[in-house]
Amino acid sequence: MTHQEALSEVLEHVDPLEAVDAPLIECAGQVIAEDVRSEHDLPMLDMCGPDGYAVRSEDIRGAGPGSPVTLHILGTNRAGCLPRRRLRPGAAIRVMTGSPLPAGADCVVPFEKTDEPADKNGPNPRLPVQVRVFQAEEPGANVRPAGSNVTKGSLVLPRGVCVGPAQIAALGAIGRATIKVIRRPTVAIVSTGDELISLGTTLKPGKSYDSNAAAIAALVAHYGAIPRVLGIARDSEASLAAKIGRGATADAIITSGGVSKGDYDLVRSVLGKMGRVVFSRIGMGPGASFAFGLVRRDQAGEGAPPVPLFALSGPPVGCLTNFETLVRPALLKMMGCHALSHPVVDAVAEDSSWAKKPMTFVKWTRLNASRGTHRVVLNTSDGLGPLAAMAAANSLTIIPQGTVVKQGDRVQVLPLDWTRDSRVAG
Ligand code: AMP
Ligand code: MG
Repeated sequence: MTHQEALSEVLEHVDPLEAVDAPLIECAGQVIAEDVRSEHDLPMLDMCGPDGYAVRSEDIRGAGPGSPVTLHILGTNRAGCLPRRRLRPGAAIRVMTGSPLPAGADCVVPFEKTDEPADKNGPNPRLPVQVRVFQAEEPGANVRPAGSNVTKGSLVLPRGVCVGPAQIAALGAIGRATIKVIRRPTVAIVSTGDELISLGTTLKPGKSYDSNAAAIAALVAHYGAIPRVLGIARDSEASLAAKIGRGATADAIITSGGVSKGDYDLVRSVLGKMGRVVFSRIGMGPGASFAFGLVRRDQAGEGAPPVPLFALSGPPVGCLTNFETLVRPALLKMMGCHALSHPVVDAVAEDSSWAKKPMTFVKWTRLNASRGTHRVVLNTSDGLGPLAAMAAANSLTIIPQGTVVKQGDRVQVLPLDWTRDSRVAG
């Protein structure tokens, strides 16, 4: 089964989760599940743009750099307070950015176009009673009319948009403290293997650390879901069944290891008994031993939808490749995202992939951008083992079965946004 076929099969079996009300400050990365409309005109009143003087445009019609108009200052208005005085002809009211425009005024002259000292910091120490205006203004100049930002009832954000800082700013501005979003999936993470020991214990010959659980948890959190690390299942059906059974209270289960062809690779057989294996093995490596299945939710009663289980390959390089190419799109779909395919850039290969591989091969690569062209180093592993090569990479390059990429060829590269430093550097 090709990776593309496997991905379609996975996506067919996962659905967006239900909507919940979430506090605005917690929903970055979640997808909005309602059409958000404003309950108010924003601003509610005509507001002053710059710090300056609210005046009647007709009073300053003849003002210019050499012909200032002098107006009497009636008082000062500040942001957040309603003006108490009405402007009368021949007068001006000092106004600050965001203060409501006083009745009677139809424009604002910025301080810069008056005799207000240019170098002052804070209040004007001279407490002026008169102002000289050096510029005429049109009616409406430097005024933000009521409703000019958002009108009451208008659509501020449609459902389906992913929330980020700019969306939070817009939602906050219309006063939304909570928002309906697709909830974050919980993801149970189960490591498998008699050889595995937990981080923080002493390594002994023949044992290896369970690093996949930490890496998978980091990826789950990175994409906005909630990791629940359930620990290490031993290579027995009973131990695996116990962990997977606990995982069946989550929205998805991810196992790693135990899904290959060895005598102790029991994940598929346990999965078959606790639900069903939808498919296993894909024609893409590292990580060809991958299986996908559905686990019955025994406690949830008849008709409860099964829990998708992603059985990732054990070796970390395959495990993380499986996650990025098969689990990532599924999690994003569960979270209500529309863009499920991985971003791809076209890059020039800096070196060659040496041998034809019997199946599509994913290389952990280093992508750089220089003067508008992306360039990719295919062999980050020179002199390094696969772990260090993976840790040095910032992208994946998929090399189709039976092809060899030569230096200078154009290839499709999948940039990873896993860390700030992994962003493509110029
Ligand atoms: P398996 O598919 O279970 O035979 O595992 C293949 C390889 O992946 C073995 O060398 C395992 O030690 C390694 N492996 C399996 N699970 C993990 C894990 N959670 N963390 C790190 N390496 C693992
Ligand atoms: Mg194993």
